Amino acid sequence: MTNTLVVEKAKTSKIQDVDFDNLSFGSVYSDHMLVCDYRNGKWEAPKVVPYQPLSLDPSAKIFHYGQSIFEGMKAYKDEAGDAWLFRPLENFKRLNKSAKRLAIPELPEEYFMEGLTTLLQLDKDWIPQNPGSSLYIRPFMFASGTGFHASPADEYKFIICTAPSGAYFSGKVKVLIEENYSRAANGGVGYAKAGGNYAGQFYPTQLAIEKGYNQVIWTDDNSHEYIEEAGAMNVFVRINDTLITGPTSDRILDGITRKSILDIANEEGIATEVRKISVHEVVEAAKTGELKEMFGAGTAAVISPISAFGYKDTDYDLPELQNSYASLLKKRITDIQYNRVADTFGWRY
Ligand code: PMP
Repeated sequence: MTNTLVVEKAKTSKIQDVDFDNLSFGSVYSDHMLVCDYRNGKWEAPKVVPYQPLSLDPSAKIFHYGQSIFEGMKAYKDEAGDAWLFRPLENFKRLNKSAKRLAIPELPEEYFMEGLTTLLQLDKDWIPQNPGSSLYIRPFMFASGTGFHASPADEYKFIICTAPSGAYFSGKVKVLIEENYSRAANGGVGYAKAGGNYAGQFYPTQLAIEKGYNQVIWTDDNSHEYIEEAGAMNVFVRINDTLITGPTSDRILDGITRKSILDIANEEGIATEVRKISVHEVVEAAKTGELKEMFGAGTAAVISPISAFGYKDTDYDLPELQNSYASLLKKRITDIQYNRVADTFGWRY
């Protein structure tokens, strides 16, 4: 595959315009991108080209039927200046799982992995070395083929863009447990990283932000009695000394951070449970003081401690803990990601 991968280098770099000491999240883009086209029934060899706008026909099916999926990953730079990915094959597998659900043709593994590594080698200087920063990587796929017939397109694009990024959340995270709106339904596309899953969250999230929260915690679509996940994070709850997270299902994204955290917690000897968590249980534990921590876990947000949650017009504050599971687990996972410790799990790439 490598001998067919074409690289067209940018004539000038934009890197001197970037303030690496004050990076926001995902708002400046590196010099190059990977582009791969699906035409005539097959994925064509990927190309690395200068970052540039796309030209699409107004009848491209992405605009009408939302046939669009994405992934989110990061490249981390260690103190020696070497760059690392974290479990990239998991992102590749999830991309194809999402593709299948949205009737998008699956991508060959070598196109993803060789395309990604070639792109990162070319834009290696864009991977920040500042603490807490990384190069956010956004692979995505969408229907570029045309037609108003409501059916899958015959042409697609797979693209990878990257963005040097700092923290996803600045400050404390206050969440609202949702009682009316739903993110996903049984038999639906909740487990896929489909663009529409996120568009559907924006309006209820705006309402929550107007009330002073940062994020919605989604509950099950059927009863709204069980906690599912947050906007772009899986959710963990600590009751007394047990760390609990909901089981994955066709409504919940199978987060790579989530499963890594479970493995690390088990290795640390922390009691973990993967089971349904009822809102009632969390509210009662908050009232008795048994609710010690809640945090979100995801590639972008890493581990984001939740400082308070709102439910049925009442806010419940969480205690500030000295030795929280969140801080321990965040240190353990970022030490692996940034190559500060031996990687006994074999997750670094
Ligand atoms: N849930 C949702 C809905 C997400 O978008 C994400 C981010 N990909 C996650 C959970 C966390 O997944 P991961 O740890 O693989 O980034």
